[in-house]
Amino acid sequence: MNPLRVVVWGENIHEQQDAAVAAIYPQGMHGAIAEGIRGFLPAAEVSTATLQEPEHGLSAERLATTDVLTWWGHRGHAEVSDEVAERVQRRVLEGMGLIVLHSGHYSKIFKRLMGTTCSLTWRVAGERERLWVCNPGHPIAEGIDRNFELPQEETYGEPFVVPTPDEQVFISWFEGGEVFRSGCCWRRGNGRIFYFQPGHEIYPTYFDRNIRRVIANAVAWARPHGRWVDSCPNAKISPERARLSSPGV
Ligand code: ZN
Repeated sequence: MNPLRVVVWGENIHEQQDAAVAAIYPQGMHGAIAEGIRGFLPAAEVSTATLQEPEHGLSAERLATTDVLTWWGHRGHAEVSDEVAERVQRRVLEGMGLIVLHSGHYSKIFKRLMGTTCSLTWRVAGERERLWVCNPGHPIAEGIDRNFELPQEETYGEPFVVPTPDEQVFISWFEGGEVFRSGCCWRRGNGRIFYFQPGHEIYPTYFDRNIRRVIANAVAWARPHGRWVDSCPNAKISPERARLSSPGV
């Protein structure tokens, strides 16, 4: 069996512009996310791509050989070309898995696939987050206790304006009182999508062992189950059927 081919996409802007973020993530947030996936899925081929590369590192050739794509974006959502967003959407519909992280809820690709505004309530106040497992039998929750905590995260709250998830894996409580559907699954076409809320750039969230485990579990869950290229075929009637259904027979 071929190894799972994973591309970790990061917009790589905060790390370049904000010294505090660069200090937490010297290899970029994408570097830390990739390291976490490699740790839990050592057989996977994990590479990274960033906004600044030609075609944002997501050429048609590269996407054609990508099984699962993870997406972290924030400040640069508008800089992602429509052409690349459409290309990613097409691959998801064919069967490529997509893991959307944190502020990626407002990315072009997530909004396209959800068809809603993907809005939410937010506050950067360094509050404690407790992530509860809603569905202990789900493969994305494997190895995770009933709940786990992050000492500080950006608070996200409901309403989260997305279609009702096909499966709910995590729901979060924040110190300030909010709750948020923090781990949600959808299927679009032949592809699997997981949204996972933690990951604000000023906290070391992507070094947390539970977070890394959930992302790796999600990557494994979202792997393609076959490839389906939707060609809208015109299925001609068989000669036999045509003969039987023709008038006068
Ligand atoms: Zn954030």
